[in-house]
Amino acid sequence: MEKYDIANLPTKIQRLNNLSEELGTDLYIKRDDFTGSEISGNKIRKLEYLLKDAIDNGFNLLITCGGIQSNHCRATVAAATMFGLKSAVLLRIDSQPPVVGNYFLDKLLGADVRFCTRPEYSNSRGEIMEQMAEEYRKQGYKPYVIPEGASNALGTLGYYNCMDEIARQEKEMGMTFDTVVVATGSGGTYAGLYLYNELHRLGKRVIGMAVCDNTEYFVNVVDSISHGALEFLPEYKGAVLDRSAIEINDKYIGIGYALSRPEELEFIKKVARAEGVILDPVYTGKAMYGLYNELQPGGNIPKGGKILFIHTGGLFGLFPVSGQFVW
Ligand SMILES: *Cc1c(COP(=O)(O)O)cnc(C)c1O
Repeated sequence: MEKYDIANLPTKIQRLNNLSEELGTDLYIKRDDFTGSEISGNKIRKLEYLLKDAIDNGFNLLITCGGIQSNHCRATVAAATMFGLKSAVLLRIDSQPPVVGNYFLDKLLGADVRFCTRPEYSNSRGEIMEQMAEEYRKQGYKPYVIPEGASNALGTLGYYNCMDEIARQEKEMGMTFDTVVVATGSGGTYAGLYLYNELHRLGKRVIGMAVCDNTEYFVNVVDSISHGALEFLPEYKGAVLDRSAIEINDKYIGIGYALSRPEELEFIKKVARAEGVILDPVYTGKAMYGLYNELQPGGNIPKGGKILFIHTGGLFGLFPVSGQFVW
């Protein structure tokens, strides 16, 4: 499938020297937080495919949804604007939100921002986006609706490619990673990595650290997205995917999606000071906290391996919670 090239790819892989020494394990990070500035993070790898599909088919408005601090919505709005498309986002809120972080950027970049409540979001975000689309059609637009996190069969190809990029970087570096770890929120990032690992028999352990729903939920989501993506990979038509190789760890969700525990914020502080690397509170902070804990005695990742953690971005979501840090 064709895509646009707007992300800064390939993203660097760096060794985290101080954490590696502390953990007795070779720990590396892949800087998908460097994919861009306005478009930074993991979503742009998926959006490169969806944008191509939208524009090739004559659509001129992107509609998508997410939490109030959605990185996905911000990246969609930025990318749409870069291509001269209009954008509209449906954001889930509990109360009137302060204009900060990703929400501020959505407004700055000129998106039409709409709000809905938590129950409306979980029960009828699809219908609400469809109503928005209908409204825009009446004004003469041709709207393209992108699901939460751009996690559909086409979007996941962005992370299928990312695993290919990793395999090429391994050759250049003269090493192989036995384990790849990534935060999992809507499942498309994990699904692409998993699918490539399966189809190309890389034999890696690919671990998704859940930040919202449980393991069973994500196994189903990943299974369904990756089977869907096979349609775009004709050479693998009818391939059998090993469902038991989908490894989602749901022990580090904490007190809920986008809610932080003090120990998670302390961990973000620790990594910042040890490595000069800033994690976000919603995804990468929880996922790396999970990885760090699983590398402790009694954890389920053995010491001594070569581990690649994918930094999927999210920096703009850190500033709105700066007041929760204890100094
Ligand atoms: C969306 C997001 C993820 C999770 O990716 P999914 O494909 O939704 O599972 C991880 N990290 C960051 C920073 C994100 O914005």
